[in-house]
Amino acid sequence: MTQRICGQVVRVEGPAFRVRGTDGTEWHGVVRGRLKKGKRTATAPVCIGDEVEVTPLSEGQAVIERVLPRRTCLVRRTPLGGRRTHGKAPPVQVLAANVDVVVIVVPAPAVRSTVIDRFLQVASSGGVQPVLCVNKMDLVPEPAARQHVAEVVTPYIRSGIPVVLTSAATRQGVDELAALLRGNLVAFIGPSGAGKTSLLNALCPGLDLRTREVDARGRGRHTTTTSAIYDIGGALVVDTPGLREVAFALDEKDAGDPLLLFEDIAGLAARSRFQDCSHVHEPGCAVKAAVACGELDEARYREYLRLRRALERSPSD
Ligand code: GDP
Ligand code: ZN
Repeated sequence: MTQRICGQVVRVEGPAFRVRGTDGTEWHGVVRGRLKKGKRTATAPVCIGDEVEVTPLSEGQAVIERVLPRRTCLVRRTPLGGRRTHGKAPPVQVLAANVDVVVIVVPAPAVRSTVIDRFLQVASSGGVQPVLCVNKMDLVPEPAARQHVAEVVTPYIRSGIPVVLTSAATRQGVDELAALLRGNLVAFIGPSGAGKTSLLNALCPGLDLRTREVDARGRGRHTTTTSAIYDIGGALVVDTPGLREVAFALDEKDAGDPLLLFEDIAGLAARSRFQDCSHVHEPGCAVKAAVACGELDEARYREYLRLRRALERSPSD
């Protein structure tokens, strides 16, 4: 019997998979028939980042026999374009598996918590550790603007989220960001134009993500469905279509639990009278009691309420 080997899916191009073994060997993977017939809920039974068992064949080919349980799973729950699904559960599209860290990149000028929260929810619903990266710090030299950035990020720092202030232009914070990512599979998300590509190029000079996507005849970026994992030296980065729009395609029914981001409030929440207490209006709420007696900072509680509202809002509204 041929030996099965473990590997990770590092490239998905249509029906073609590329699997990298733990020893660095790469195979062209084909999916075992019975895997394809799996549940119809998750569109792809095998996706980028998946850890798999393969049976190597000859000439660099291998059969993907089994997908190992996903530690984390970044998904998109509604169709692109925010079309309504008329009561039916929106289809789930698995964007990437086993991502360890999601870097939420937002631009420093006019940085807003509402945007950050949207992307934080993507991370928390997928079970992925977020890192908040406020980029383009070179564009806010004035003390008042810097003070505004500091005020916006303080609640996140208090929630235990690593925050790094960067500039892809001046390289401010780039080494600090690299240190946070070391040894992890990372995905960059955030609004378009925030500087995700620029930061990746700053982290790994020569990677040049955009040129990679230019085809042989130089026709510019082609809109294939290719997903890939890139080695940026010290960390791996997943690049996959749909990741950039992910925060704007969340369904309210699938909103993540805001308490995931507020561990101190979660601790108090357990003492509320009702198990499903929302800590907004119920009697016997231990969270509100803690605010009343000064045990919990009121500003912190307001942050919780604000995030709660953000998570409840439907993206298509
Ligand atoms: P993406 O859409 O998030 O990948 O953003 P890009 O990396 O393509 O950057 C969008 C624009 O912002 C480009 O013109 C970049 O040159 C510029 N940019 C990115 N990072 C910085 C930065 O730290 N400072 C300044 N001043 N411009 C930046
Ligand atoms: Zn409560």
